[in-house]
Amino acid sequence: MVGAGTMGVGIAVVVARSGARVELVEADAAARERASVRIAKDAQRLGDPSIVERIVLRDAIPQRDDAMLAIEAVPERLELKREVFTRLAAALAPEALLATNTSSLAVAQIAESVPHPQRVLGLHFFNPPAVMQLVEVVAAPLSSDDALDRAHAFAERIGKTAIETADTPGFVVNRVARPFYLQSMRAGEAGAATIDELDALARAAGFKMGPFELMDAIGLDVNLATSESVYERLGADRLEPIALQRQLVATGRLGRKSGTGFYDYTHGQVARIDLSTEPSSDVNGDEVVALLGFAGASDELAALLEPRYTRFQRVENDELLDDLAPETTVLIDMSDGAVDRRDVLLRLDARFGPETIIFADAYTTDLDACAQEMRHPERLVGYGILGSLDAQQAVEIVDSDVVSDDALGLAQELFASVGKGVMLLKNVPGLFLGRVIGSIVNEAMIAIAEEVATPDDVDLAMRLGTNYPLGPIAWGREIGGRRIARILTRLAEAEGDAFAPHRSLWVLDVEDESALQPLEVPGELPVRPLL
Ligand code: NAD
Repeated sequence: MVGAGTMGVGIAVVVARSGARVELVEADAAARERASVRIAKDAQRLGDPSIVERIVLRDAIPQRDDAMLAIEAVPERLELKREVFTRLAAALAPEALLATNTSSLAVAQIAESVPHPQRVLGLHFFNPPAVMQLVEVVAAPLSSDDALDRAHAFAERIGKTAIETADTPGFVVNRVARPFYLQSMRAGEAGAATIDELDALARAAGFKMGPFELMDAIGLDVNLATSESVYERLGADRLEPIALQRQLVATGRLGRKSGTGFYDYTHGQVARIDLSTEPSSDVNGDEVVALLGFAGASDELAALLEPRYTRFQRVENDELLDDLAPETTVLIDMSDGAVDRRDVLLRLDARFGPETIIFADAYTTDLDACAQEMRHPERLVGYGILGSLDAQQAVEIVDSDVVSDDALGLAQELFASVGKGVMLLKNVPGLFLGRVIGSIVNEAMIAIAEEVATPDDVDLAMRLGTNYPLGPIAWGREIGGRRIARILTRLAEAEGDAFAPHRSLWVLDVEDESALQPLEVPGELPVRPLL
């Protein structure tokens, strides 16, 4: 193990814990001191004093013909890493695997300086290595199958879960996670809501932490450096870093470690908004509720509303709009979640009096444009329910310029009755969850199309590497590829082609899971071609 910093010590302890012996090479005397203290502490915490005996600290790379593997974790500078690899190649047997823990450099570039580059690969651990279960095995173009097999076996031996990734910018995790940060900041810049409100929404959708509190914890500078590196190397405009973050970093607002970042920590704990609510047991006989829709999410909502409202009607087909009871007071339009609903909404507006509140899916339809054509725009409430309502503790509700307070109050009441919190936000395309989660799924699909990793490995990597509640492919299947494509088409129309849906999203709607693997996009698409 070369480099006994944050990662090197952590990896050395994980490896020693598995029973292997480790030579831990650190050039800096003070860092060696710190390392031995940390190793002793970790060994004590883990209740295994033999860990200390199995790790030998060195000031230079020793000659070791018997070493099976070297892992380099020196600072992220190409020239330094190349120098270390040249030394490793001279000190170890030609069969020994040589691995780098780089997060942002190309493994192939590091391997260039090494004889027998087929044994060079990436072993990308996550911080802290003792806690994070994932290791990305990075296959450089010259890495041999044998080397990759041995790297997988090593990961298994030390108790980690390995996924395999191509040697592309950000590998899987750091790339597919980019939209979580970037699109959240874009939504914040667009004034969708305040950062604590957006963080609360993200948690309500199942993320362990919201994007802003997470960036503060990681360090805005560290997070920005990853974004910059992935963006520069991939050259994809959709992943362009955000000016606001650069400004915060430039002014020393780095997050928790500097006292302020997106939040201010100088006065202690930052309050968190909690959107969770308990479903009520009251039964409402006043409102006459109708649900228009025929997809998964509408089944779920119907099942929740039916016991709460004695006068509840479900209409599953647009052809049957005439069946809607004229005395309906609450009309929830869900459709199949993938098409523009303006025409239907205008028909409903023409048919029902001003006292009927109309709920419309804000992800699929431009409700501001729709409101302009309505007789009674004040009764139009935009909502956002992305995938399974079961997994979403709160619903996004559009606080538009024209919607009445009564209508917003009713939205609060309706969703509270089925145990869902409500967050009011401005009507930006995709609102918050639609744009953020839609863009994560999109990035995952692009990475798969570019053969960065298999769909299963992408899902596993994101669950273990970032703690997402679902892998992006599983999430995309739940939300629906056409629905995500519709959301991103609207985002692209408003904010630029860079955010357009990838042409492979439709594959998520194919029942047969093997359609994803290998992912081939035929000339004839079964649904309307996407951008
Ligand atoms: P760090 O600065 O904490 O540690 C690097 C150590 O390497 C230092 O102690 C330094 O003295 C030592 N070093 C420098 N030159 C050396 C040499 N020639 N021989 C031996 N030791 C030398 O860095 P870190 O955060 O542990 O990161 C190391 C690598 O791991 C980087 O490539 C980084 O991108 C990657 N990584 C970091 C994280 C993270 O969260 N910190 C996560 C994943 C990957």
